[in-house]
Amino acid sequence: MTVGQRARDWLAEARRVVALTGAGISTDSGIPDFRGPNGVWTRDPEAVKQVTLQAYLADPAVRRRSWLARRDHPVWQAQPNAGHRALVDLERTGRLDAIVTQNIDGLHQRAGSSPERVIELHGTLFEVACLGCGDRTTMAAALERVAGGDPDPACLACGGILKSATISFGQALDPATLRRAVAAAAGCDLLLAVGTSLTVHPAAGLVEYAASAGARVVIVNASPTPYDPIADAVLREPIGQVLPALL
Ligand SMILES: [Zn+2]
Repeated sequence: MTVGQRARDWLAEARRVVALTGAGISTDSGIPDFRGPNGVWTRDPEAVKQVTLQAYLADPAVRRRSWLARRDHPVWQAQPNAGHRALVDLERTGRLDAIVTQNIDGLHQRAGSSPERVIELHGTLFEVACLGCGDRTTMAAALERVAGGDPDPACLACGGILKSATISFGQALDPATLRRAVAAAAGCDLLLAVGTSLTVHPAAGLVEYAASAGARVVIVNASPTPYDPIADAVLREPIGQVLPALL
């Protein structure tokens, strides 16, 4: 029996699957992987500054560039792909407990996954949060203000600095979101990690929570991850082919 067949049998038997997804599931949708070998941050370390909270707070020029980058982000044109749709099909069988995603692109929900089952560890690009008062508004409304000539729109409630509701370097994850993710990982019987290099914590640590609670671990990723040695199956084929075949 091949590794793929074994993984498919395990997925068919599993009653409580948690998917952990990263950038690799969205590259087929035209959204670049920021950390991979050809990643935006790998090729352009200056771009990292835009996502560092300290630089964002200190420098209006960084904020202005960030708003333009949000306006031009590939997410607004992107469509869900076969990998996202395979997880929708799995949910319809009643055996998918949650999708914990490191992605901020909203593509799981747009593919048809239930929003209440998608745990966005690193936030979402579809909302804006005030770094002063915490007020949340839509990205669409903020980008309208940018288009209207305000290059660094301030919070309408308190005048504070606005930022996409995503987690920047130097910014802590939302504790309630992280607790939900840990509970899901610790309670699943199979953790399916898809398109994530499993190098960014605390997301990567969810694999350990699942494994130490006795869950099987299946990893689908193009390149090796630090958790391959503890995985029950590791698949390297393209996600868009492997996921529909597995599920
Ligand atoms: Zn505010």
